[in-house]
Amino acid sequence: MKIERACKKCSVITEEDKCPLCGGDTSKEWQGYVVILDHMKSEIARRMGIHVNGKFALRVR
Ligand SMILES: [Zn+2]
Repeated sequence: MKIERACKKCSVITEEDKCPLCGGDTSKEWQGYVVILDHMKSEIARRMGIHVNGKFALRVR
């Protein structure tokens, strides 16, 4: 079973050590997540500055 990690910069959830979106470092220490299905219409995505669909951590340490 793979461990899900979250990017420290853009909060995207991934299994990689480096973020596939922004190339930033990822962390195992994160809490909660939101799934953005339509970032164009999502209020949360707009507030978090998310410009792609996907799964994003709410808090990353
Ligand atoms: Zn990132």
